[in-house]
Amino acid sequence: MFFVANPSARLIAAQLDFQSALLGWYRNHARALPWRDAPSLYKTVVSELMLQQTQVKTVLPYFARWLAALPDFAALAAASESRVLKLWEGLGYYSRARNLHKLAKAVAALPEPPRTPAEWRELPGVGPYTAAAVTSISFGEPAACVDGNVVRILARLTANATEFRDSASAAKIFTPLAEAILSPATPGDHNQAMMELGATVCFRQNPLCLTCPVRAFCAAARTGDPAAYPRLAAKKIEQRIVTRVWCERDGSLLLHRAATDSKRLADQHELPSAEHLGFTGATAARGPLLAKKKRAITRFQITESIHATPSPRGKLPPELIWVPLTTLDAITLSGPHRRWITEILAQRTSAQPPRSISRSEPRAAPSTAPRPPSSPADSVPE
Ligand code: SF4
Repeated sequence: MFFVANPSARLIAAQLDFQSALLGWYRNHARALPWRDAPSLYKTVVSELMLQQTQVKTVLPYFARWLAALPDFAALAAASESRVLKLWEGLGYYSRARNLHKLAKAVAALPEPPRTPAEWRELPGVGPYTAAAVTSISFGEPAACVDGNVVRILARLTANATEFRDSASAAKIFTPLAEAILSPATPGDHNQAMMELGATVCFRQNPLCLTCPVRAFCAAARTGDPAAYPRLAAKKIEQRIVTRVWCERDGSLLLHRAATDSKRLADQHELPSAEHLGFTGATAARGPLLAKKKRAITRFQITESIHATPSPRGKLPPELIWVPLTTLDAITLSGPHRRWITEILAQRTSAQPPRSISRSEPRAAPSTAPRPPSSPADSVPE
């Protein structure tokens, strides 16, 4: 306990000098971000929900488009769900878009927006971090934000060598220290300065200690190996193989719509997996391979192969939908699947040899649909 408490106590004792160094640096070095330009409660809330699990550079174009289309809580509350999801398309974790929509309806119905972290935590999609960020930035509430970035900084400032199970459990341990050193006069700027320091100076690997504004307070920098902190248990990576099917019929593509309560995909369309059509991946994989893709989602490394298969016959379950290729832009597709479908269609177009059409040539163009699997065993069950 002595090992942890002593550097923490020293930091708390030096908090005024620490705050002054941190805030002085932030006021001169903060990145110009659109939610910091003429800040408002609405901009703060939208940016905080978009930034959950997502990097700033990814969020920037979405934020600009969102603000142009839905400039305030009232506009967002009045928007249709399909418009909200369409504007969010490609950002992932679509439950955030739904929660933001519900949150806007709740806030727009109130005479005044709530002001305390406890009240904000009652709203959809708002956890302790977002509640602290929104209320400290917008209302000056003395609530400390503690995410992975702040955990990293605090673990280094105190050279805390405890091994944590994960960032969330470390955040709980470091919250009292974050609250103890929070500037009571400017908690919003203090929180943003900590986030900025984590994002631009105190990197996970190779932190820029030589130019760090709080180096004088940092116990880990004095050890010579600040990147050794915090100690987080290694994540168990799991490999997953997914076989997807490409079924096309009369100019329409078969897609799977995720359930409304799906946390990550909520109502988004994707190419169906073999299992969605009721057959095994091995069976689907007998069809021509159109694309093979790798991606990482949380602790999963996923390899997805997309195979052409014949159209299923008979009645389909309601989550399987034929979508005309000409209307793909109008529906909400998950970001990777929109890219993959676009690539497959583009490859198919470019693979066709240039043809000059003569008057005597038959009018019907040859089918551009992928060839179906040849084995009878590949037939899709009805
Ligand atoms: S001195 Fe280095 S390790 Fe310490 S807070 Fe600054 S950048 Fe991070």
